[in-house]
Amino acid sequence: MPKFVDTSAPGDCIFCRIVRAEIPSALIYEDELTLAFMDLGQVNPGHVLVATKRHATNLYEITKEEGAAVMNTVQKIAASIERTFNAPGLMLVQANGKEGEQTVFHFHLHVLPRHANDGVGLLWPRKEPGMEALKSYAKMLTKNIQEIELQGIPAS
Ligand SMILES: [Zn+2]
Repeated sequence: MPKFVDTSAPGDCIFCRIVRAEIPSALIYEDELTLAFMDLGQVNPGHVLVATKRHATNLYEITKEEGAAVMNTVQKIAASIERTFNAPGLMLVQANGKEGEQTVFHFHLHVLPRHANDGVGLLWPRKEPGMEALKSYAKMLTKNIQEIELQGIPAS
């Protein structure tokens, strides 16, 4: 089945319209910063999306408060999914950018119940480049974290 890709303008995207109740959705939960609703696509029954109420394109644009609120909502939804759909497994998927397979450019996180042999797959091409390369990657990342901590993400 082809993927749905939302190409509407920021602030007028499909999730902003769901937040404003301009288009129907099967809502589950909301609080000040987040909204949880059923994914139209339902990869497995009980597949839920948790989105920020404010339009933020991706992970880099949400505030610390929104990030914490999203994870608090996700934990509640996950516990409800486990109970409601007797799901022995659960997967969180959060995509950023076209290359990251993001299709609606408003921050959201998939909460997906998983069952044995449910046909869901994830390609995971391990490379194992060795400890020297790992240490080099770690050094570069740590350096950038120090800069990011000074600048803040997002700027707020
Ligand atoms: Zn939006």
